Amino acid sequence: MTGRQRVLVTAGASGIGECLARAFDLEGARVHICDSDEQAVERMLAADRGSITGTIADVSDPDAVDRLFDDVSSVLGGLDVLINNAGIAGPIGPVEDISPDAWRRTIAVNLDGQFLCARKAVPLLKSAGGGCIINMSSTAGLGGCPNRSPYVASKWAIIGLTKTLAMELGIFGIRVNAICPGSVEGERIRRVMEADAEVLGKSVEEVHANYVAGNSMRTLIQPEEIASLVRFLCAESSSHITGQALSVDGHTETLRA
Ligand code: NAD
Repeated sequence: MTGRQRVLVTAGASGIGECLARAFDLEGARVHICDSDEQAVERMLAADRGSITGTIADVSDPDAVDRLFDDVSSVLGGLDVLINNAGIAGPIGPVEDISPDAWRRTIAVNLDGQFLCARKAVPLLKSAGGGCIINMSSTAGLGGCPNRSPYVASKWAIIGLTKTLAMELGIFGIRVNAICPGSVEGERIRRVMEADAEVLGKSVEEVHANYVAGNSMRTLIQPEEIASLVRFLCAESSSHITGQALSVDGHTETLRA
């Protein structure tokens, strides 16, 4: 492509999405975000003084996604990169304690959300003559993780979606890759550790130590590490990398908390 990359980051108002949005903005891309948290969107746009634009939208709601893409078309005038980042941790507990509503909500946000955004993004990417889709999966999309059944199921499904879209879209110059982060330092992983600790009857410190011990490098991941892989995958230098699920995780050995 020529000119500034036009990038949409879903759930871009905090956490990993905010880090991704700022990384693309810093390197000169035109960035639009969406997020379901109105206050977080307002905070992000105010802090950014106008260079990043945004829409309040829940990615599991087809009408909201339609409105989001109306904004993308009018504000960015097209699209080169879709980053399907939105995802929730879902309920934590043994399968018999997971309610059908909590299961469906996790799948709706994590999986339906990526489908709904991809189906609206693809015509824009085709019009642009090519582009990239990044689907946020997880190391939980590569293995089992006790007490996280809806989350794990959604993250495995995302890898199937990624590989299939890569096959459908390769001839149009559209590359589709999934990222599988390990546990990323921040608010969300703290909440997940607290919930794990409650279910397992352990202390949060013990759960934290087990998370760190579960990978070969004994580490949590920084959001900036995810941003650098995403930027590489959306650049010319990775022009024939597609259909892949790439981990940033210090090499996960076990997902048990
Ligand atoms: P987070 O919980 O910090 O949430 C980030 C943002 O998502 C929030 O601003 C929230 O309002 C928004 N959001 C939630 N539901 C939404 C919806 N339905 N529509 C639009 N926005 C919504 O999340 P995070 O830790 O930044 O994770 C981002 C992605 O990375 C997710 O897909 C997650 O599964 C994945 N991931 C995270 C980790 C981790 O350790 N944090 C590890 C592996 C994968």
